[in-house]
Amino acid sequence: MAIERTLSIIKPDAVKKNVIGQILSRFEGAGLQIVAARMTQLSRAEAEGFYAVHAARPFFKDLVDFMISGPVFVSVLEGEGAILKNRDLMGATDPKKADKGTIRADFADSIDANAVHGSDAAETAAVEIAYYFPALNVYSR
Ligand code: UDP
Repeated sequence: MAIERTLSIIKPDAVKKNVIGQILSRFEGAGLQIVAARMTQLSRAEAEGFYAVHAARPFFKDLVDFMISGPVFVSVLEGEGAILKNRDLMGATDPKKADKGTIRADFADSIDANAVHGSDAAETAAVEIAYYFPALNVYSR
């Protein structure tokens, strides 16, 4: 499998629960490397731009309100099959449906406050990484 990069966001609910480290440990434990990272408070415009693909969905306003409700931890994960590996670690969007032992099963409260974001495909990963990290701020080893 190819070495990939994917964008991860630890959402405001998980940051408030003080579990950034526990979530990052899961990424590293699964063989993913954190090659860029930054804690940030998203502006409304940034959150709307990031989730533009969902702009017509009924949950869009609540999603944006939630994403700007506190700081988030944004990182780029690199490794073999990183995109799917991260999605597997995250679990299903709705934590009630997420497999046992996944990040969302263990740390998320609801489909709205679901602890993490992860890119869902190579194309979206490239766009999402560029949205938060200029290329020069990514540190591969
Ligand atoms: N979302 C929501 N209500 C829904 C579906 C999605 O609040 O009914 C939110 C949820 O936080 C999710 C995000 O919108 O993580 C993006 O949805 P997507 O279907 O892309 O899920 P993901 O890729 O995050 O699992």
